[in-house]
Amino acid sequence: MMSFTNPVGSGTLWFHNLATAEGTPVAYDPQARAFLPMPPFCANRVIIGCNWIAPEEGAFCRACAMTALAPDPDIPNAIDYWAETEAAKRWVIDNLGRWHWFRPEDPGTRPTFHMLADGNTLAAMGHGDGVVTMSVSEADPVVRISAGKPWMNRIER
Ligand SMILES: [Zn+2]
Repeated sequence: MMSFTNPVGSGTLWFHNLATAEGTPVAYDPQARAFLPMPPFCANRVIIGCNWIAPEEGAFCRACAMTALAPDPDIPNAIDYWAETEAAKRWVIDNLGRWHWFRPEDPGTRPTFHMLADGNTLAAMGHGDGVVTMSVSEADPVVRISAGKPWMNRIER
């Protein structure tokens, strides 16, 4: 796991940190690949614990701006699972940034994410026409390893 320099004190920070050990709020700048002490925070910071910077106060960060649909908050655990799924997405997007994908210098179209939760119907995962649909319910390890997803049976070998 990659560690980062603490911009306001001693010690190190880890990719998902929201604050230093002393409690100072910090945010990750995916362009600089470093933490900043007083950036405009992502609008999803309070809701799902996003720790990335935003272009301005009240705006979404680069990763959250790609999410067009969030899960229904009335579905049990949907927000917690969404937070975990978005954290994993930030890790992927940051690593793709090593090859300049989805950074300002990348002229390509950004994918759009639909983050859905399993409610009365299962959220089918897949991608097409630049839209990636994810079931945030799969953040639950029990759901992930169970055979509760009908399409899982189709990919068994
Ligand atoms: Zn964000």
